[in-house]
Amino acid sequence: MPDQKQVTCSYGKCQHSSKKMNVNADNVYYDKNSKRYYHKDCWKIKQDIILIQNIWREKVSKSVVNTALNRVLNKLIFENDCDPEFIIFALEDAIKRKAINYPAGLYYLVDDKRLIQAWNKKVATEKMKKLGTDFSLSTEDKREANMGSTFKANREKPSWFNSILGGGKSGHGRTF
Ligand SMILES: [Zn+2]
Repeated sequence: MPDQKQVTCSYGKCQHSSKKMNVNADNVYYDKNSKRYYHKDCWKIKQDIILIQNIWREKVSKSVVNTALNRVLNKLIFENDCDPEFIIFALEDAIKRKAINYPAGLYYLVDDKRLIQAWNKKVATEKMKKLGTDFSLSTEDKREANMGSTFKANREKPSWFNSILGGGKSGHGRTF
């Protein structure tokens, strides 16, 4: 008889329709340190955000307060569906070019067509490589890989973009 125990995702920003999950479900992650349960994707986002904060502190600025950075990250990740891994990619690239020094600069980075293209190419290459070498992948992984990048890169300039920068009160957002 499988364990039917219900657990709750501990991530404060959990985007799932229900925080409740069966303890044995495939998408459950158990964090031994905190003894808490998370959806796997919630845990991944949580870790990616910590990684971005660390990169920022080490390579961009020690003085920036996490709340300023978090405000930008929350907007990008939870309102714009921006892939945290893409943010890391864009941030590392900008650091190399010394092209970022304040959190709101991230809005510009993730809208950079050159970066979006480079990212999509990287994701596609890695997925193909994974498919070619790992025969133990589940059919679900294969299906996911076939769908290509999860980042919606071919969309026009998103509506949130102007509203963030221009306040969006009257629709006279700044244009670029
Ligand atoms: Zn969750």
